[in-house]
Formats: sequence, structure tokens, C-alpha cells
Amino acid sequence: MPVPATPLTETALLEIFSSLQGEGLLVGCRQVFLRLPNCNLDCRYCDTPFAPTADCLVEDPPGSRERQHLENPIALEAVLALIKKWCLQAPGAYHSISLTGGEPLLHTDLLQHWLPHLRQLLPIYLETNGTLPTQLETLLPLLDWVSMDIKLPSMSGQQTDWQLHKEFLQLAVQTACYVKTVVGEETPVAEIEKVAGLVNAVSPETTLVLQPVTRKAKAGVSAGRLLLFQQAAAARQKNVRVIPQTHVFLGLM
Ligand code: SF4
Repeated sequence: MPVPATPLTETALLEIFSSLQGEGLLVGCRQVFLRLPNCNLDCRYCDTPFAPTADCLVEDPPGSRERQHLENPIALEAVLALIKKWCLQAPGAYHSISLTGGEPLLHTDLLQHWLPHLRQLLPIYLETNGTLPTQLETLLPLLDWVSMDIKLPSMSGQQTDWQLHKEFLQLAVQTACYVKTVVGEETPVAEIEKVAGLVNAVSPETTLVLQPVTRKAKAGVSAGRLLLFQQAAAARQKNVRVIPQTHVFLGLM
């Protein structure tokens, strides 16, 4: 007998929590984070457990770091009720809902159904590895922000599909979008030049964020190397920022 498909009104989530965005251009903005399972990449430095789980960890109360285990799948109605409650408890506190992973674009069918409802509560911010342009195109009308990663070969240990990233960025710039790339001490300057050149070829106004890799709870790149990277990027793209991950310093999730 065929296994019935999970209806689009419910899904398996990894986590729902309330925190400050710790990376990129919206650093410091309070968000509701929905973490979705699975990823299509296999980055060497990945420290995000994204395998599907039996339970979804829901932070309750928000910001407490205390987690309740809710059995998966979770219904859309339950997620909407939770976010509505959090917004009422802290009026004006939340900037947006962050879809994070894993890779959220692996759940396009589900998000097409969920986002119109979630977006009635807060704007939608997508964190993505920037490699699934077809899926992004489907969701574009439902997104407010796209935080697009480009994983460099020196960091991810994988080949970078530059053409795919280019196609993705050509679509992503239809939203408020920026590009983020993680750099390490070992990153060759040529990779920085390549990523800055790609962003510039698609969108000279888009901000490129260079994010030093976090090692032992510190930025794992020397100041001299960071300035060299910034210089190489800024020679090709006007808007370049160097922003470290801040969760670690702030003790946030
Ligand atoms: S894209 Fe992100 S979640 Fe996926 S393997 Fe790379 S670092 Fe991990």
C-alpha cells in the first residue's frame, strides 16, 4: 500500500526559536527562526546538524534557550499561533521570520503554501546557499530578503558552481538581497576576486559581506588578511563589508 504523502499543512521542522540575527547585513535584528531539515551541499566546515529529527525543538518562552520537544510533523496552524503569540508578547520586537537550514529551498512546495500565511505576520528572510535558482524563482514573490551564501572552494572543500550562483543572484536581486561569503586565513585572494567579480557582473549595487570563519569562538582570520581581502573585493565591488558571526560573542543561539 503506498505511503500517504505528508499534506502541505504540516511538516517536519528541526527548530523554532527567537534570537538576534548573528550574521550579514541584518545583524542584530530580532527574528523568529524556522530551521528546516536537509541540505544539498556537504561543506567541510559545516557545524549545522540538518538531518531530519523525530521532534522539533521549540524555544519556550522565546529567548529563554529552554526547548520543548514537539513531535514532528508540526502543523502550519501551530506555527502561526506560536509566532502570533510571540509578536503579541513583544510588540515591535521582531523584524522578520528567518527561514534557515540546512537548505530551505529544498522545501519549495511546502513554502509556497506556508509563506503567504507566515508573511501576514512578519516579512520573510531566506538564508540560502544560493545554488537552487529554479526553486528560488518559484518563491520570489513571497520573499522580502535573501541572504545568499557563496561557498568558496578553500573553505567548503567542494567545487563552487560559479555559473549556478550567477543565475541565482540574477533572480535574488529582485528582493532585498546581499551576498555573504565565509573566508579563512587560507583563502586565496583569487577566490575573493572571483566572488566580488561575480557579484559586480550581476549587480554593482549589491552588498558583499566577507565573514571571517569562527574558530574556537573567535574570528579565525588575522586582521591583516581580512584587510587584504576587503581591499581585493572593494576593487571590484562598491559595497563590501567585513562582518563576523556575532552569536558566539553574545552567547546567542
Ligand atoms: S550549505 Fe550550510 S547547511 Fe549545507 S552543508 Fe554547507 S554549511 Fe552546512
